[in-house]
Amino acid sequence: MVQADRLWKRLQELGDIGRDASGGVTRFSYSCDEWAAKERVRYWMQQAGLDTWEDAVGNLFGRREGTDAAAPAVWLGSHLDSVAHGGNFDGPLGVLAAIEVVQSMTEASVQTRHPIEVVVFEDEEGARFGFGMIGSRAVAGRLAPAELDRHRDAQGRSLGWAMQAYGMDPAQIDRAVRSSSEVFAYLELHIEQGRVLESQGLPIGIVSGIAGPLWLNFTFKGMSGHAGATPMTLRQDALAAAAEAMLVMEQVAQDVPGCVATVGKLTVQPGGVNIIPGVVSLTLDLRNAIESLRNQAEQRILEQVEKACLRRNVDVTVQTLQRIAPVECAPSLRGVLHQSCEELGVSGFDLVSGAGHDGMQLVDLCPVGMVFVPSREGISHQPEEWTSPVDCIMGTQVLYQAALHLAKEGIVQ
Ligand SMILES: [Zn+2]
Repeated sequence: MVQADRLWKRLQELGDIGRDASGGVTRFSYSCDEWAAKERVRYWMQQAGLDTWEDAVGNLFGRREGTDAAAPAVWLGSHLDSVAHGGNFDGPLGVLAAIEVVQSMTEASVQTRHPIEVVVFEDEEGARFGFGMIGSRAVAGRLAPAELDRHRDAQGRSLGWAMQAYGMDPAQIDRAVRSSSEVFAYLELHIEQGRVLESQGLPIGIVSGIAGPLWLNFTFKGMSGHAGATPMTLRQDALAAAAEAMLVMEQVAQDVPGCVATVGKLTVQPGGVNIIPGVVSLTLDLRNAIESLRNQAEQRILEQVEKACLRRNVDVTVQTLQRIAPVECAPSLRGVLHQSCEELGVSGFDLVSGAGHDGMQLVDLCPVGMVFVPSREGISHQPEEWTSPVDCIMGTQVLYQAALHLAKEGIVQ
């Protein structure tokens, strides 16, 4: 069985690499700290008896052979990069749990038909270049060469430059592409980064889907005027229209199952105490794990906002900033995860991931499944990020059990 102490000790040790003055962890992609973290993890992979290699974009792999050399590999993994002043669980837990799973299998002399590969994906967070999931895009053949020049860090250095400085050849990124015949399934253990599990006292979440974000920008154009001299009947108040739109967004998100809607940015012009706002713009982040439901919510919001603006004699224009398709986790893998929870005598709670993960990029490569463990107070991407040792171990046990089913019996497909 998995060793709780070993996992926890490694997690603490890894948290010292890239530790900054905030007490949190800053490990950007293709940085010295991320390199050091990967080298430490490579050492643990080798201790676990894995053959290790780094691919053309910096993804680190550790492979445990199965009895059938031709069988596709079960992938277990996560990432080691972090946001600025982030926590020590988002990513590292999934990587170290994966190593713990294969090391315990080997220690228990467990043989599997399928090989198992522990995968450390390069740059999941997108914190350095504003463009994430680089490693998982690359293995799925979704990293276009043009992206290497387009995305730049705060110093103006391109992704391609960073790869080169890291000792890689940006012209060779195609060599990172893996085929469906090589990968049987992908499983990732991750912290929830929300409050659902903790608030209900649940130890394990089984992810049904990953909600892709739709970002829209709304611009409301009314007429500014003197706050004292313009009677209420003659107003074209852009902010009042925007306020009504925000309530529509909130209501629609409450009505459509699984939807969340957030207005995170609002600008008001001209912005004076005694001036009726003439132009207001706001952003909407709309998510749902099911694309048709997200589309339905979007449609309802657009219709109702338009109606409200018509009534208020305010013009509204809508611009799409990004539209990322939500991803459904494979029902077959969800089944294996539920079965694994039952065998361990723990309940697995179905939930949606509101945050993006590498699995989103892998859906055309292989079936994808995710296990969540509780985040204290839902805090993530901050130094205070915390998941208890008991929860980390329970998640690792579920991962072990599910990986065993997949690698031994080949339940999927
Ligand atoms: Zn993560």
